Amino acid sequence: MVMLIIKLCIFAMAPLCTVAANAQTQGIGFGYGGRNGPKQWGHLNPHYTECSVGKLQSPIDIQRGQTFYNSTLEPLHRDYYTTNATLVNHVCNVAMFFAEGAGDVVINDKNYTLLQMHWHTPSEHHLHGVQYAAELHMVHQAKDGSFAVVASLFKIGSEEPFLSQMKDKLMKLKDERLKGNQTAQVEVGKINTRHIERKTRKYFRYYGSLTTPPCSENVSWTILGKVRSMSKEQVELLRSPLDISYKKNARPCQPLNGRRVEMFHERVTKKETGNKKKDPN
Ligand SMILES: [Zn+2]
Repeated sequence: MVMLIIKLCIFAMAPLCTVAANAQTQGIGFGYGGRNGPKQWGHLNPHYTECSVGKLQSPIDIQRGQTFYNSTLEPLHRDYYTTNATLVNHVCNVAMFFAEGAGDVVINDKNYTLLQMHWHTPSEHHLHGVQYAAELHMVHQAKDGSFAVVASLFKIGSEEPFLSQMKDKLMKLKDERLKGNQTAQVEVGKINTRHIERKTRKYFRYYGSLTTPPCSENVSWTILGKVRSMSKEQVELLRSPLDISYKKNARPCQPLNGRRVEMFHERVTKKETGNKKKDPN
């Protein structure tokens, strides 16, 4: 049953990376440099056209002068629950797929269900011109098929507790890769995703795209304002199961093209509204 759910999840997630895996076997895979690099993605496959012609693409550099404080934005409302998870070598990144019932994020009164999360090294989004060591994408999907991604940026520093818990499983993915298994899956068992959830006093919101082909747009992005830490070893561990061409798997920043990046900031919101209620997040 769990495998069935995971397979369904992978099917649901096709635009995010299994397309890449399939494309690999068909010889039209994308990469992060050279002939298959990001500048070429739009020309590799008719389904990838949006990567070159899309005007609302991700990632972006979140620059101070182009960020607007929006007092109507609400605290990020996430409800995550304990669920079975599987760590997957997703060819272009390391991902964790969740079984049904992992929880939701609510954005503009719309429910998006948590499907999977994966890591990019270095970060895809830049914050005020700075590219960080890693970025976690928590990928959610609404019933209408649209995506909402909640992203966290990481600098090099102390160990990230969730990855510390996952160390053995990540080592196993690496061992499988060394044995030649490029798409290994490692059962993780029950994961309490509440551990991943963090208090969020500041975030940035804009509409963009998937950062891998087919680069589909209408993705709601939430980039958490607090940069967290992971150790250098953890960055290396996240890279270790990946093929050389995917070890650095960050798409370069895309033009903003007049989009507004909005900012939620609890402190400012409270001061303005006098709201002393405890933030549920
Ligand atoms: Zn991603």
